[in-house]
Amino acid sequence: MITREEIRQLAQFGSPAGCAISFYFQPQTPQNKSHREEAILIKDLVRDVMRKAERNGNHAALREDLDKILQIAETLHGNHSRGKAIFACREQGIWRELDVPPRLGHSQIKVNSRFHLRPLVHAYAGLPRTCIALVNRKRARIFELQEGGITQKPDLEFGPSPHVPRSDGFQGYEAGHRERHVENRVMQTYKMFAESLLMLYNLEKFDALLIGCHDEAWPEIEPQLQGSSLKQRLRGRILVDPMVATAEEVREQANRILSETLQSEQRNLVRETIGEAQRNGRGAVGLRHVLNALERQEVQTLLLMRDFKAEAVECPNCRHMDTRMVKTCAVCGHETRDLSDVSDTLVDLALRNGAEIYFMDGDADLEKAGRVAALLRFRADQNTAEKMAV
Ligand SMILES: [Zn+2]
Repeated sequence: MITREEIRQLAQFGSPAGCAISFYFQPQTPQNKSHREEAILIKDLVRDVMRKAERNGNHAALREDLDKILQIAETLHGNHSRGKAIFACREQGIWRELDVPPRLGHSQIKVNSRFHLRPLVHAYAGLPRTCIALVNRKRARIFELQEGGITQKPDLEFGPSPHVPRSDGFQGYEAGHRERHVENRVMQTYKMFAESLLMLYNLEKFDALLIGCHDEAWPEIEPQLQGSSLKQRLRGRILVDPMVATAEEVREQANRILSETLQSEQRNLVRETIGEAQRNGRGAVGLRHVLNALERQEVQTLLLMRDFKAEAVECPNCRHMDTRMVKTCAVCGHETRDLSDVSDTLVDLALRNGAEIYFMDGDADLEKAGRVAALLRFRADQNTAEKMAV
């Protein structure tokens, strides 16, 4: 597992000598490729990189790292459920090796002055670490959903219930009292549940929360979550019998709810961004405007189609990027170089902006808006202090 902060740190890293290696291993299903073919593929990838490095004269710094990656690649074919990512730069003493969800597209290796992080961000996109609590009046079963896999954790118990008088008393005289007592006790129970869950949250800091309970219990549980971090994390209810549901049932429903809420969240973000851009506010749509906003460190959320591809040029001197395929940099006059696919750079820049990144499928509004958009934190050109300085 890698935290958002660690990914952001990897994005900040720079190797002036161009010795930053990013390696991704995408496991293939056995029908697609034999283990042997896979090993050969990775060896070819590494050898290609080696040859290029030798031509550029910086192979000495790379060879040790590449050899180590080859050795690891040879052990990977036994483990087909996980992908692997390695980020290395011997020159600066960096070696970071990670197991990642197998959603990397294909195996690849890149050597550059920065780490190539788009596949890593993509592998984790839309997979919040989720706590699922299935609750009745006595206890809650707790599950954790992480990277698509589910694990059951120890139950939360709410302690002994207070004594409830069994008799309705003389001719039902105490019946009303007893009902109130039971209502009270149930409320206390769910209050304790919410408190235990909040303690668990403070310990584990999950990204999302789902609750499973009987329908009639929900109006009593929901108010107990109000006003706490739990309410902010709550993504919905899962409709299962809390004490009987199997982990597999829970996993299936949870994944469905999470992907539905993610989609509607994304649609709303696209609408908000386009609206802001039309009002000349905190929105940028289309590659040129998004690139400008990224260069000015304004971006809060980057929205791009999963298969977004576009050409641009980059200045190797000042790193300015231009969607016009110009030969010289508009900022410093240095000769530019072509970026055959600017989407990798968009993701890297967004990470350095500290932005959230969403990969979208088939959103008609985003499609029309140029397939890439960004919601901004602020607009530098609308900053009052700056206006006054001008
Ligand atoms: Zn420049």
